Amino acid sequence: MRRGVADLAAWQRGLRAQFPIVTANPDLAYLDSAATAQKPQPVLDAVMTYLTGENANAARGTYPWANRTTARVEQARDRLRAFLGDPDPGRSGVHFVSGATEGLRTVARDWLTPQLRDGDEIVVAHADHRANIVAWQEAADVARARGDRVTLVPMPYDGAHDYDAARLADLVTPRTRLIAATHVHHVYGNDMHVSRLRAAAGPGVPICLDAAQSVGHMPVSVAELDADFLVFSGHKAMALPGTGAIWSRNRRGPVFRPGGWQGTPNTAGIVSLAAALDWLDMAGLDQIAAWTRDLAARLTNGLAGLDAYEVLGCQTSLTAESAVQRRQGIVTFRHRAIGSNDLGFILAADGFLIRADGHCQGEEGEKTSSVRVSLHVHNTVEEIDRLIDRLAALNDA
Ligand code: PLP
Repeated sequence: MRRGVADLAAWQRGLRAQFPIVTANPDLAYLDSAATAQKPQPVLDAVMTYLTGENANAARGTYPWANRTTARVEQARDRLRAFLGDPDPGRSGVHFVSGATEGLRTVARDWLTPQLRDGDEIVVAHADHRANIVAWQEAADVARARGDRVTLVPMPYDGAHDYDAARLADLVTPRTRLIAATHVHHVYGNDMHVSRLRAAAGPGVPICLDAAQSVGHMPVSVAELDADFLVFSGHKAMALPGTGAIWSRNRRGPVFRPGGWQGTPNTAGIVSLAAALDWLDMAGLDQIAAWTRDLAARLTNGLAGLDAYEVLGCQTSLTAESAVQRRQGIVTFRHRAIGSNDLGFILAADGFLIRADGHCQGEEGEKTSSVRVSLHVHNTVEEIDRLIDRLAALNDA
């Protein structure tokens, strides 16, 4: 149920107060949560409790700390399945990785590459994050090196920066081995409507989703998305850096790192991830997504009144209302006269911590750099209004 305005403000203030880095820096507005998210106190506490209380290696010892560490890792897998609304947790796999980049490369290298044969095709979205392109290029390169010609087929887009499911249906052939897509675009902020890809792909083609910009920012249901793999970065979901996971629909199919427990897992990171998922569920992901969408809409509307700025992304061929619904908490824009790096420096000097550059987008992405504002639940209406005022002061530059 959506809260009233006063309740909503109180809910947000209560959550914002739980971010020590935010409360310790009242003059700074952290607007770079798509790069990495800040950590609420309960996540930091869980890590400290673990490290100062019973830190041990997993799956190696016989003493209680070691057994409990092993159990924590297993519980974190189950926690993630529940968080993702896994409809068949007895069947799915959860493999911890250092982030989305490693996760995508692991699916590509350990699962896809050994199966590739001469003439196979992989559908890849060339305007998505480079991590979700390079992984599949590498798979094709390895196959080619052993004599199997594998082609990367560009995922079709439509004029609203969405995947074009109708054209995708024409591109899928009996040789399509995988479709690699992104749940929420890291530059445009679009929800890419990936649940429509299944109908276009048919039941037999595996779909791998890069969910780096959705997990931890909005509700994510693997049942609704109907993908075979979902990969994300834990650090963008309020866990420690160096965390992330691959969820796979069928644990018996893909085997990552054969041999089970090889090497020491990032136990403290995995503890932080489980705590972050608890915190996000407690806070309410529906409400977090609505909050950041509203702030993004406020910023987009503010920029619409300033003719020096061009907002990139989804509103072009959509009604204002549906554009706002599609846009999650990411707004990327550029100034017609001020270079994006310069704009980044100017805004940083005024306490706005934003991302400025090409955002690691693939070669079919934006050719000119831009600045990106990405939001989370600790951000406030006041921060957005201050930012709009500052941008307005630069409108005639
Ligand atoms: N995919 C998307 C959509 C991203 O936004 C990012 C990071 O910005 C990545 C993948 C890579 O994530 P990581 O650097 O955590 O591996």
